[in-house]
Amino acid sequence: MIIVSVTGPTMSGAFEQVRTSDPFTDLFEFRLDMIAGAPLSLLLSSTRKPVIATCRKKDEGGMFAGTESERVEILKAAAILGAEYVDLEHSTDKRIIAEFVRNENAKVILSHHSFGSKIPRVPSLYARMRSTGADVLKFAYEVSDSADIRHAVEFLEIAKRDRQKAVAIAMGGAGESSRILYKKFGGWATYAAAEVGKEAAPGQISARQLRVLYNSERLTRRTKVFGVIGNPIGQSKGVYLHNPLFHRGDIDAVYCRFPVHNLAAFMKHVAPLLTGFSVTIPHKQAVMRYLDRVDETARAIGAVNTVVRKRGYLYGTNTDAAGALDAIEKVMRVNRKTLLVFGAGGAARAIAFEAKRRGAIVHISNRTAKRGMQLARELGLSFVDRKHLSGQRFEIVVNATSVGMTPDVNRSPLPKALLKKKLVFDAVYNPPMTKLLTDAKSAGGRVVSGTEMYINQAALQSELYTGKKPDVTIMKKILSQV
Ligand code: NAP
Repeated sequence: MIIVSVTGPTMSGAFEQVRTSDPFTDLFEFRLDMIAGAPLSLLLSSTRKPVIATCRKKDEGGMFAGTESERVEILKAAAILGAEYVDLEHSTDKRIIAEFVRNENAKVILSHHSFGSKIPRVPSLYARMRSTGADVLKFAYEVSDSADIRHAVEFLEIAKRDRQKAVAIAMGGAGESSRILYKKFGGWATYAAAEVGKEAAPGQISARQLRVLYNSERLTRRTKVFGVIGNPIGQSKGVYLHNPLFHRGDIDAVYCRFPVHNLAAFMKHVAPLLTGFSVTIPHKQAVMRYLDRVDETARAIGAVNTVVRKRGYLYGTNTDAAGALDAIEKVMRVNRKTLLVFGAGGAARAIAFEAKRRGAIVHISNRTAKRGMQLARELGLSFVDRKHLSGQRFEIVVNATSVGMTPDVNRSPLPKALLKKKLVFDAVYNPPMTKLLTDAKSAGGRVVSGTEMYINQAALQSELYTGKKPDVTIMKKILSQV
């Protein structure tokens, strides 16, 4: 079930949230601590769906500023007026919890909130909450790393063995996947925002996204989980691409974002739950030590951007290299062409390696000469100091630096004179048409956007994840709507 938290803060705002999120919601939670001057009867009659009445205290992350007895009276009134559930904090006086549990007007959701880095030990917390006799046990705790969703999984596993209805949520952006995957992990329900910007708790996502993008209510224990790991990953478009591809292909799979700082903890506790994942900055190199096998290309490049599980083993590969060169070769074969790669990071390394493999005569240049020289040496290529670039003749020019990326869209890494009548490829894909590409076009050159590379590498990933070649035209259409 998807529960939408109605937060107001005005009565009319609350009614509007009920109206707009109704198609995506199974149950409404009215946050009586957040909706100003709410006449309860009016609120409760705004929907025919079951309702949870919640009046959260400040020290539990809510906004209720009255006394404890006023709060209890509000919840009692909500139960009498027809709320199916009342939400009580675990810290509420034991006698009051017992009174609500005995009272048959409404069922009790017992909530335990934990803020800060200290996460309680799950088995003993569960036992304490279970002893109250509440109908639903809800554990919500703050996380800053996706590795910590493991506590939610553990809570739900204990509840499942105990045949107890339970909700477990890792709050914050790093815990987003725990909200999406609740059914996979056996949760009774998940909480969602009525709309973006109306979140009742950190990391809440909208009910529409849960239902439409992630298909959350259709997920089962058998659903395969994929995702992207990195830090930061806010800019990643993977969820908007892979999820619609799964839906179109009728594939029982979901793709989530996993912001990861602690790679070791993630690989130990969460990776075993995944069938595959994309890897982005800063883990492309570090992830290799946790894999059972890394293919030749990824090993030579020294970076893995895709991991898949086959027969229990984790395999790493790199789709950036082929993605970039396939994009360039749609316009011009690189064999025997002189090609400049400007940059010496992960993208430069992948592109230079694959260009050489396909027969190009590759030169490396970079802002920091020492780093550029080292890359050239490692891949057996020549290095050109950026001061001497204008004296060289290249047929293909590749930007593999982040210069020109949003928000610095008016910057170009290379002078216009160098681009004259060249084929210019920019790895930067946000924006799709960079200053470098605009300059190249106006200098009579041909251009290839980083979006082509992005789509190619994502298509290769999708094929590795699903075993089926995705339709690139559909991928482009999906991305143009993001
Ligand atoms: P990275 O490993 O951090 O490397 C960054 C590179 O950019 C280094 O060569 C660095 O030079 C250079 N650089 C940064 N700021 C610069 C500046 N102000 N002036 C000149 N050079 C500068 O990053 P990466 O993973 O290789 O990614 C590079 C770009 O490729 C990013 O924009 C990324 O989004 C893009 N990319 C695109 C795709 C795609 O699918 N289209 C895939 C992967 C990456 P120094 O050595 O001097 O610091």
